[in-house]
Amino acid sequence: MIFKIGGMYYKVQEEEKIQYRYEVLGQVDYLTGEIVVDNKLDINRKNQTIAHELLHGMLFEAGYKEQDEDLVHRLGIVFYQFLKDNDLSVFKEEADL
Ligand SMILES: [Zn+2]
Repeated sequence: MIFKIGGMYYKVQEEEKIQYRYEVLGQVDYLTGEIVVDNKLDINRKNQTIAHELLHGMLFEAGYKEQDEDLVHRLGIVFYQFLKDNDLSVFKEEADL
């Protein structure tokens, strides 16, 4: 899975035991654009975690080097629900000129 944020690519990879090694479900590396999520997560938890890490990436690309984890956590939950429950293709429609 690859996502573009601010012209940069973020690649999602699954790895074993992320939550045991780092006590988190996922991580993002802004320099390499790598997002890793624990491969043992339930599909919904995995996607919610990816949305959370993507939100970190969006804030970083917007210039927020220091981020409030509680804010990202709360927004990440809403962001995941928004992505999951809406048809986002409407944003790709071109306006008639
Ligand atoms: Zn986070």
